[in-house]
Amino acid sequence: MTNQPHKSRIIRVGDPRNHLYSDPLPARTEHASVPALKPRVNQPPPNVVGKLSFLVIHCSLTPIGMTVTGDMIKEWHMGPPPNRGWSRVGYSELVHQDGKIELLVPYDDDHYVETDEYTFGVLGKNYISRHVCVIGGQDNDKNQADTLTIPQYEALRRYCHEFVRKQPQAKIAGHYQVYDNRTCPNFDVPFYLELMQIPKNSIFYG
Ligand SMILES: [Zn+2]
Repeated sequence: MTNQPHKSRIIRVGDPRNHLYSDPLPARTEHASVPALKPRVNQPPPNVVGKLSFLVIHCSLTPIGMTVTGDMIKEWHMGPPPNRGWSRVGYSELVHQDGKIELLVPYDDDHYVETDEYTFGVLGKNYISRHVCVIGGQDNDKNQADTLTIPQYEALRRYCHEFVRKQPQAKIAGHYQVYDNRTCPNFDVPFYLELMQIPKNSIFYG
């Protein structure tokens, strides 16, 4: 044992740590009074696939008059052909037309996407994204349409504010902004986010 600093550590002349290292080890009783080091924080938890960087807003691309449940979405994504047959559902949550939010895949509040939080909303971006789906996106003739209801707008507003409070490092985007050849969720996402008074540095403008 030695009380010399590690050779690679840079100690400047006049640095108070010089005295720490050059003095003899304190007596045992003093040594015991030194508070324990705090555990390191902000360490990635196990099973991380990436740092949460995007909240991506989608729509279910269903007519405004149609009732859609979480079980239906799971069947469309994960059921056998003619469904997609994915191993995971595409979204963490649904925002129903009455403003209710339905959780499909639970997640914690850390800044990482973990394997059990992973959803299949945007090919190539899922390891850094959370996905939320607004039910609707078509008129009753199945044309693409902004069908956001007032309760949905209000639920999405509260949801996005909570998201940016907990995830200030991430940005909120529409599916069409992060993947070519998509119009999903069929409304102007940055425009609505500004209307909701989401801070501009949490809005994706790409
Ligand atoms: Zn989408």
